[in-house]
Amino acid sequence: MNRLDPHCTSPQQEHPGEHQAARQAWSARAPGSAAADIEIAFDARDRAATVTSLLAACITDTQGRPVDPDEAWDWTLNQRLQALIAMRLASGHPALELQAACALCGEAMEIALDLHLLAADPVAPRFSWCSDDGLELELRLPSGRDVQGWKQSGVPSHEQLALALVEAVAGQPPDPRTLAALLPGIDDALAAHDPLTGLQLQTSCPACAQDNSIACDLEALLLDGFARDQAGMLDEVVRLASALHWSEAEILALPRWRRAHYLRQLPTGQAATGAWT
Ligand SMILES: [Zn+2]
Repeated sequence: MNRLDPHCTSPQQEHPGEHQAARQAWSARAPGSAAADIEIAFDARDRAATVTSLLAACITDTQGRPVDPDEAWDWTLNQRLQALIAMRLASGHPALELQAACALCGEAMEIALDLHLLAADPVAPRFSWCSDDGLELELRLPSGRDVQGWKQSGVPSHEQLALALVEAVAGQPPDPRTLAALLPGIDDALAAHDPLTGLQLQTSCPACAQDNSIACDLEALLLDGFARDQAGMLDEVVRLASALHWSEAEILALPRWRRAHYLRQLPTGQAATGAWT
């Protein structure tokens, strides 16, 4: 864990501002609120590309311009997750449900997660950390582009991962032999700086009261919700097209409230899925 150490000096900031939290300079809209969102491909085999497509579709800068996919690839996993959270909050559904089993008795547990509690400005992409023996390291968080590269080249070893994310040790390029002894501390430092990417939830079992630490893949949960919303939108197109013989483009061009209104007029058995209500 990061601890104060008398051997460590204040970090030399080669990139002023990067050690501070990255201010949120974008805004999010709900996926599914534009007809073009029907084109977003939810590919479970390429989650990073799916996230980049969502960011390019639903995130705009302060001038209202969509984020460039190249830029979205360079965002840290923390920033990408915060953008996905903002998109989910824009859709008006802040609650996420997580299923887990108690590690002691196996009891099924349902954990409700309020995304308002996780939403924040993205954390700084670079930060300093001091090892227990006073070595000062400059670390960076992984980006979407890192994940894309690892997908193509194979999952990196623990040592390769550390080497990729440590930019300097005591002001010098990192030496793999030095890093080997620091790996547990580097893991803790990355987790402490960005608790969102490897989110751990603490909960007590309702049956045996055992304290459980549950790993939560927040990105997967958010993507699953967006994919379900898109499937609901497609179901609505099928129902309205079957009943009213409108084209897909005509139905998707309708504002959500009008689509919901027409769906409520359909006979029983063709009612709305609830995805947009
Ligand atoms: Zn239990």
